[in-house]
Amino acid sequence: MRKPTIGLEIHIQLLTQTKMFCRCKASFGDPPNTNICPVCMGYPGALPVPNKRAVEMALMLGIALNGSIQMVSDFSRKNYFYPDLPKGYQITQDSIPIIKGGFIAINKNRIIELERIHIEEDSAKMIHETGSEETYIDFNRAGLPLLEIVTLPCLHSHEEAGIFLEKLKQIISYLGISTGKMEEGALRCDVNVSLSKSNTVLGQKVEVKNLNSFRSVMRSIQYEILRQEDCLNANQPIIAETRTWSDEESKTITMRVKDSKSDYRYFPEPDLRSLVVSDDMVDQAKKAIPELPQEAFHRLITSFSLTEYEAQLITSAPDLLRYFDQCIQDFPHPKLIFNWISSELLKIMNETNCSVFETGISPKNLQELLKLIQNDTISGKIAKDLLPKIMDTGKNPCDIVNEQGLLQVTDDALLKEIVTKVLLDHPKELERYHNGEEKLFGMFMGSCMKETKGKGNPKILNSILREALKK
Ligand SMILES: [Zn+2]
Repeated sequence: MRKPTIGLEIHIQLLTQTKMFCRCKASFGDPPNTNICPVCMGYPGALPVPNKRAVEMALMLGIALNGSIQMVSDFSRKNYFYPDLPKGYQITQDSIPIIKGGFIAINKNRIIELERIHIEEDSAKMIHETGSEETYIDFNRAGLPLLEIVTLPCLHSHEEAGIFLEKLKQIISYLGISTGKMEEGALRCDVNVSLSKSNTVLGQKVEVKNLNSFRSVMRSIQYEILRQEDCLNANQPIIAETRTWSDEESKTITMRVKDSKSDYRYFPEPDLRSLVVSDDMVDQAKKAIPELPQEAFHRLITSFSLTEYEAQLITSAPDLLRYFDQCIQDFPHPKLIFNWISSELLKIMNETNCSVFETGISPKNLQELLKLIQNDTISGKIAKDLLPKIMDTGKNPCDIVNEQGLLQVTDDALLKEIVTKVLLDHPKELERYHNGEEKLFGMFMGSCMKETKGKGNPKILNSILREALKK
């Protein structure tokens, strides 16, 4: 087997108010061709002005990914003709990018090194209507700010690529600089795959584009490795080309034979000066960086004794971490909070496709609910039933418990009566139990809880039932 080497090129759309070089609104989902002006439409004489906020975001990402900031960087023109490119060229950073180097640790022993991060502008969006011969162009996207993150060719498997992308997306969402939503095109990934026999000389690389999910990135890498291996085994050369991934056919398909870099005729953008970053801007960017996922991961383990798995889950999204941190304030029960987030809340989030703060269960209400269980006011079962009521009404759990008479039954005499009734109702099961079928205990317990409509205190009920069954 030959050794696969993979490099990734990732574009992220920045969450700025306006476009990269003009003041048109930058937003997703507006009516087509409403956010356009002479600059982003490439009218003669219109002059670009760089977006300061986009530069700040580039600095934040560069610092967060341990890159080296270039205090003076350049913009170039990348020339090519395509209907989605009204100017006939794209303004991008070529010879000196704003960030050089950097890395992301994908686990304790492995880092993926970056070549660069640079600023560029997006092209317009082409829309091919199904069943129609026509193609529409929405210029709202033309000129939106992008950061391109280029890794060194240093990944060696589709799994590494998958983890790298997850980590990158996580950091981007913590920084709040992009939604990272691949389905909306806010994060796009192209891959370069090559196979080689030696460690020093890389094989001919093939580029795969149009990957619209992490899954298709990983599948296309797997496919390319096998396809290239087959070619080489059959003594066929690997053609330098750009391929596209087809989800339906589960394979890569030739798109075009690769353009070489000189085909783009890069030259310095004459309408823009060099991009100069001040020390102040760097300081501001440093200050704007919040706690990053890796730091939060260690904090959860050291401060709250969560396991690695638990800390991983809570830090997987910044709002989940914020939610956990709010729940834990004045209520130091990390495991209990984790259990409820990981089971009940994640289930609701999946079912409703909501973020944790959109579920309608505020951290304060979850805290209240857990306090009610802890002081034996309600059972865990009732607490679970309360969640949809809290979601629907937004009321605090104490009020709902009082209104609906859900207080836990802790009255010994009443619970004894219930146990006696349940045992009388199940004479056959009782006999089997006494003949050694001890697993029937669970059935008796369930029936007793049912009789109390879930309100019986399980601990008290359990001991009364054990006592009764001894007879
Ligand atoms: Zn514009």
